Amino acid sequence: MTQTTPNHTQTVAGWAAHDSSGHISPFVFKRRENGIDDVTIKILYCGMCHTDLHHIRNDWGITMYPVVPGHEITGEITKVGSNVSGFKVGDKVGVGCLTASCLKCEFCMDSQENYCDNVQFTYNGVFWDGSITYGGYSEMLVANKRYVVKIPDSLPLDAAAPLLCAGITVFSPMKRHNMLQQPGKKLGVVGLGGLGHVAVKFGKAFGLHVTVISTSPSKETEARERLGADDFLVSSNNEQMQAGKRSLDFIVDTVSGRHNLGPLLELLKVSGTLVFVGAPDKPVELPAFPLIFGQRVISGSMIGGMKETQEMMDLCGKHNITCDIELIKPDYINTALERLTRNDVRYRFVIDITANESKL
Ligand code: NAP
Ligand code: ZN
Repeated sequence: MTQTTPNHTQTVAGWAAHDSSGHISPFVFKRRENGIDDVTIKILYCGMCHTDLHHIRNDWGITMYPVVPGHEITGEITKVGSNVSGFKVGDKVGVGCLTASCLKCEFCMDSQENYCDNVQFTYNGVFWDGSITYGGYSEMLVANKRYVVKIPDSLPLDAAAPLLCAGITVFSPMKRHNMLQQPGKKLGVVGLGGLGHVAVKFGKAFGLHVTVISTSPSKETEARERLGADDFLVSSNNEQMQAGKRSLDFIVDTVSGRHNLGPLLELLKVSGTLVFVGAPDKPVELPAFPLIFGQRVISGSMIGGMKETQEMMDLCGKHNITCDIELIKPDYINTALERLTRNDVRYRFVIDITANESKL
């Protein structure tokens, strides 16, 4: 079923899942006209976040089909509304997870639109006009200027795309918990996937000692040699986990599946903090003893606000931080989703949206 909202007159080609089987197929739909506060973006690249997979398969039970996933979007502005300043046609920009928020609440007023109670997401959200939002697995997007980020000239648009979600999701809690302001402190990154590998890069860029905690022994060499990780613990290796007890100041847990927090908490020093950003569909195990014996803290975090996203993007430009990506054509999306399910990606698939343009 396609939308019939009155000013949704622009026909757009994209890719959607129509049910929880997980299969993506070409899908033509409508987007709104470019409003006075909007910019229109020709999408060039879109990262494939594990959240896309959760939505496509309806892991969280909230998917509204058809769903056009994608919230790690980069491209070029092709149209600018009359109320928009600071952006012009031709600018290289990005759009992440947010598409709308109330702009009146304490969180919106404090540049934390991501925690607005009425926040709407780039896909599987409901826009003010009642339409369901469609994401970046598509050739064009109309976005309100507030949720658009400038991409520094020094960053390639394909390897920068995952920063719009993976990047800001780890950057925001790392900043909030003062991890980026204390060189020499010890950071643990659990799960070396899309989010995790950017956390390692931020950690190293800001002078932290970084330990990766992974289920995949095969990732050790590249974690150390490519990403610069200082240590690598295999979470199923009891000896390594025991040896790492009370060694870390912070942990960022990016794991997408159900797991036990107990052994991870044991890795923290007394009063250490574990920030949870992964979003498993089932509750994680949380034994009390590792919490109470070490006075440890668990916190959660969801993406970041727009001001902070721009700040992160500018810092990435300055420190030349990009994501390690495997660039794919749209006709490879289904294979990429299967490989993402099997944990077979180093470390983010990014769709080259215009690669199959002639086929649309
Ligand atoms: P990803 O690329 O698939 O990486 C997740 C990593 O977690 C895997 O590479 C694997 O690393 C590890 N892992 C997977 N299943 C596991 C299990 N059952 N037990 C232990 N380790 C496991 O995914 P991603 O894109 O980084 O996203 C990670 C999670 O964050 C997803 O749930 C996603 O929805 C969520 N997310 C949250 C936010 C937010 O705002 N909080 C934003 C974006 C994404 P190893 O091989 O190293 O073990
Ligand atoms: Zn994401």
